[in-house]
Parts: sequence; structure tokens; C-alpha cells
Amino acid sequence: MLVDSHCHLDHLDLTDREGGLDGVIADALAQGITQFLSVAVDLSSSASLVDLTAKYSNIYSSVGVHPLQKIDQPVPSVQQLVDLAQAQGVVAIGETGLDNFYSADTHKWQRESFINHLQASQSTGKPIIIHTRDAREETIELLRQYPLEAGGVMHCFTETWEMAEAAIELGFYISFSGIVTFKSADDLREVVRRVPLDRLLVETDSPWLAPVPHRGKQNEPQYVREVAECVADLKDITIEKLAEITTQNFHRLFRIPAV
Ligand SMILES: [Zn+2]
Ligand SMILES: [Zn+2]
Repeated sequence: MLVDSHCHLDHLDLTDREGGLDGVIADALAQGITQFLSVAVDLSSSASLVDLTAKYSNIYSSVGVHPLQKIDQPVPSVQQLVDLAQAQGVVAIGETGLDNFYSADTHKWQRESFINHLQASQSTGKPIIIHTRDAREETIELLRQYPLEAGGVMHCFTETWEMAEAAIELGFYISFSGIVTFKSADDLREVVRRVPLDRLLVETDSPWLAPVPHRGKQNEPQYVREVAECVADLKDITIEKLAEITTQNFHRLFRIPAV
């Protein structure tokens, strides 16, 4: 039994997908992937994902605005985030954070938005999902400034061990995506080896970043198995053990009942 701790089911291109979203979920279930956290990237997806969680009992969602989204829009307010987070099936705030790789010019917007998400997490008691790229010190500094009782996760982690360690000390989990399977990711695989098992999560970030050997295809939650196999190898444990541990971590962090 595996879970996909981070995907974007509302961004899949389902035009030629046999069975549509039902097909995506059925194929994932056939691979032993039993639960899915579909993460919001803007306020409209935050609202529409709620319909998805109402329809499928094994899909959960979050509320948030991605740091690279909608920079032409006003920063989401704490109240907007808190209100949306009241819906059934919403288990987290995010994804939010700082991404200075693609978009250093939007830094002010990103920072204000991130702080509002941190405050929404404080006020709802729901954990935060952080997208982070090339902003290590500032991200950790803000997390220290706005301590979160519910903790959170550094998703699709590609930064240094030092950043992972600082986040773990603050109560965070570290989630790895298909990037760990990429040929060029030796440094990242070294980070995977060092993250304690009880803080580890796996994800697809579907529809983006398909793992080897599916690169170039649209990524789907069923491919979290390839991510998990790679991580299990690096940790020198069986895929079954890795699946059990990451599923328990997922339930603990997001307070989701086991199926
Ligand atoms: Zn992200
Ligand atoms: Zn994402």
C-alpha cells in the first residue's frame, strides 16, 4: 500500500485518457496506491478540488496559491485561505513558499503570500505544504518566525541536506518526487540517504516530472511506485517497508485515517 502525497489531479490532461480521472485512479489502485493528496495551486483550484474530495473518498485536498501562480492577482488574504480550508477533505495549506529560480522578480509577492499561508496554517491548525527553490535561508527564517504546531512538508525537495536538516528540526517532513530517479540527481540521492525514515514522504507532483522510465509522458499518481522503489533502494529497505513507513508518515502529518 502506497500513497501519493502530492499531485495535481485537476491539472491532468484527460482528453485522450481512457476512463478519464476514474481511469487514472483505477490504474493507481491497481498498483497499490490507495490515497491521494491533490494540492491546490490557486484559489479557484482550492475551491474546485473540494468537489473532487466529495466525489472520491480516497482523495484529499489543500488550499493555497503556488508561488509562481497568478502574480498578476492580489496576494491571497489569510481570511480567504482560512475560509476555503473549512471544507470537508481539506487537510493542508499550500502549496506556498519561495521560488527564486524561475521568478526572483516576483519576490515581494511571493513573500507576502507565503506569510499569509503561514498565518492561515497557524489559525486553522492544518499543516503547510512548501514549495521551495533557491531560497533556503529566507524560507527557514520565516518558518522560525511563524512556528507551526501542525508542521508541514518540504515537497518535491531538491535543496541541500543542510536545509532538510533545519526543516526536520522544525518538525517538517521531506518529500521526494521522480527527480530522485533522474540520472543527474546524485546530490539529491545523497540527501535521501540522510533523511530519517520517520520524516520521509514520496510523491509524483503529477502531471509534471514523470520518473524514469516514464520521462516525457504525462505523470500520473500510479508512478509514485517508481519513486518509492528508488527511495527504498537508497535507504536499503524493501519497497513494502518503505511503503508502510511513508504511508504512516502521511497519515500522521495530514491526520488522515488509514484505509
Ligand atoms: Zn511545487
Ligand atoms: Zn505541486
